[in-house]
Amino acid sequence: MMVLATNNPHKVAEISPMIFSEGFECKPQQSFFNGDVEEDGMTFLENALKKARYASAQTGLPAIADDSGLEVTALGGQPGIFSARYAAGTTGRASDEQNVEKLLEQMAGLPYAQRRARYSCAVVYVEHAEDAMPLVGVGHWYGEILMQRRSEQGIGYDDVMWIPNLVKAVSEIPLDIKNRMSHRAQAVQMVLNQLKQKVQA
Ligand code: IMP
Repeated sequence: MMVLATNNPHKVAEISPMIFSEGFECKPQQSFFNGDVEEDGMTFLENALKKARYASAQTGLPAIADDSGLEVTALGGQPGIFSARYAAGTTGRASDEQNVEKLLEQMAGLPYAQRRARYSCAVVYVEHAEDAMPLVGVGHWYGEILMQRRSEQGIGYDDVMWIPNLVKAVSEIPLDIKNRMSHRAQAVQMVLNQLKQKVQA
């Protein structure tokens, strides 16, 4: 049994089926404790490691955590690790809607050739809170930022993230397909593959 170190129901819905389908078990951290650790790392990797260690310390169980965000080439990789609080600056909170609005403002006037972006995700699994050899996975999902929202739906930046080879915005991609292709799915699978090797060794 491992703890899934997130309070985000979208992430629980995306990650838990992958864990179960590889023969492992997990429960979201809300089943054990309330609260979040501060995400003050400089990288997705540091933040994911911090969340995993914290959940493991709180529960005494192995833990898996992710950290993710949107990186826009023309903005030098912003909003990056600040994706969830982009419109709020480095502290405080911002709604998905405010974040998307700020992104469209920052990119106003840029032609499609300069609208390349990627979703990035780091996933970390620790056996215990002081694990010196965490398992690490990374994933990227490439696309372009649209000039305006496709709909008023979709979590995070999904409404403005266009995936050229699917000819759809992420918000228009059926969830089962998104959950197989996404940056997060890639990173989680990379960790689960290592974990399978580890338990077989
Ligand atoms: P985290 O919870 O710290 O990993 O922050 C993730 C943030 O990045 C979210 O609040 C979204 O703004 C953005 N993000 C990451 N992955 C996705 C995705 O699959 N769709 C939409 N937005 C995403």
